[in-house]
Amino acid sequence: MVNVEQYLADLLTKVEAKNKGQDEYLQAVQEFIPSIAPFLEKNPVYVEKNLLDILLLPERLIQFRVPWMDDEGNWCANTGYRVQYNSALGPYKGGLRFHPTVNQSIMKFLSFEQIFKNSLTGLAMGGGKGGSDFDPKGKSDGEIMRFCQSFMLELQKHIGPDVDVPAGDIGVGAREIGYLFGAYKRLNGYEYGTLTGKPLPLGGSLARTEATGYGLVYFVKHLLADQNDTLTGKKIVASGSGNVAIYAIEKAHQLGATVYACSDSSGYVFDSEGIDVELLKEIKEVRRARLSEYAVARESAVYRENASVWQMPFAYDIALPCATQNEIDVVQGEMLVENGVSIVAEGANMPTTMACVHLLNEHGIVYCPGKAANAGGVAVSGLEMAQNAHRISWSFEKVDRELEKIMKDIYENCRDTAETYCTAGDFLAGANIAGFEKVADAMIREGL
Ligand code: GLU
Repeated sequence: MVNVEQYLADLLTKVEAKNKGQDEYLQAVQEFIPSIAPFLEKNPVYVEKNLLDILLLPERLIQFRVPWMDDEGNWCANTGYRVQYNSALGPYKGGLRFHPTVNQSIMKFLSFEQIFKNSLTGLAMGGGKGGSDFDPKGKSDGEIMRFCQSFMLELQKHIGPDVDVPAGDIGVGAREIGYLFGAYKRLNGYEYGTLTGKPLPLGGSLARTEATGYGLVYFVKHLLADQNDTLTGKKIVASGSGNVAIYAIEKAHQLGATVYACSDSSGYVFDSEGIDVELLKEIKEVRRARLSEYAVARESAVYRENASVWQMPFAYDIALPCATQNEIDVVQGEMLVENGVSIVAEGANMPTTMACVHLLNEHGIVYCPGKAANAGGVAVSGLEMAQNAHRISWSFEKVDRELEKIMKDIYENCRDTAETYCTAGDFLAGANIAGFEKVADAMIREGL
């Protein structure tokens, strides 16, 4: 008889000892490991084969120097990363994040989560993630372009349409992907499929920009449908004001809900008439300005400097954290409880701490983990790869339809898996087990 509990406890101790100080990575592993225990109990072969020990090591960890020159002619350098964590289901796939907080722990946590997220989409994609501690804030277009070119000079050695396909994440949007793709093309030729999230004229997919935000709201839509409910009339608060938040707000409004607030790293905006998405797009996407500009332009809005949107007292139904990891800890969680929130659906990766997830569970608040709820972005990246491979482009409506279908499938898969193995409504365990099952099966079949 295999003792699953002991196996997992030993495994965690080992991972913790080997990754001391890598807090975000350990958090992702600590959240994952215990949740798959009920599955391992029923499928001891994975324990007998010591599969977890293998799975918990990234296949490849690449770190490199990115030298670049700023507009004043100063020589600068940043660290670049690409973690190719697991390729059991397909080429490594995952975004690139440019943000000063980027380090090895954050890259490992994001690529680890990406394995199961990509598995849940049902598309053939392994898990990876990359980026740099480069801070795009306040940089000129020329500086961004030079940085992207230098970054790609090294990264191109490690990627390709059937090897590893990066995309965007925080600080990396269509503009950066365009520069990265241009640099890649000069070195390797026109391999469309080597990056996703490309600008449309470079082979990008319609609806990719909208995909993560739209997908998040589709997930919630199908969750509500199961309760014979809809988004109509729902009050929502989001965090962030990047492409995830913007398009989550847009889709929520299209489906009859109202989003009252969103945020940036300096504060949040509350609009008593609901966020004006066109104005938000104009400020963030066209002018690349601060969110505080929104309140200047709109009478019904106030901007609260240095305040967390999650500490705002306001009665609402659904919280959509779309900013960054660990933005909701127990203090913010208690405020969500007080505000009467009934659903927390993650547009960002791991925005809720483990302690807060427990708190939400205790209060019967439905928690939809990012690896399921925000999988729409990478799902449409997968569809972009498919279009590129066929040298065709689908209509917006077709991509959007496929996206909703994938999100519905992910929701149902998480729901059914939770019901089979543990507690109904435990979407975290459902997502982890359903994501893991496919990866583990592929790993066994490909052999050591
Ligand atoms: N960065 C996104 C994520 O966290 C998208 C990745 C991709 O499209 O490859 O899933």
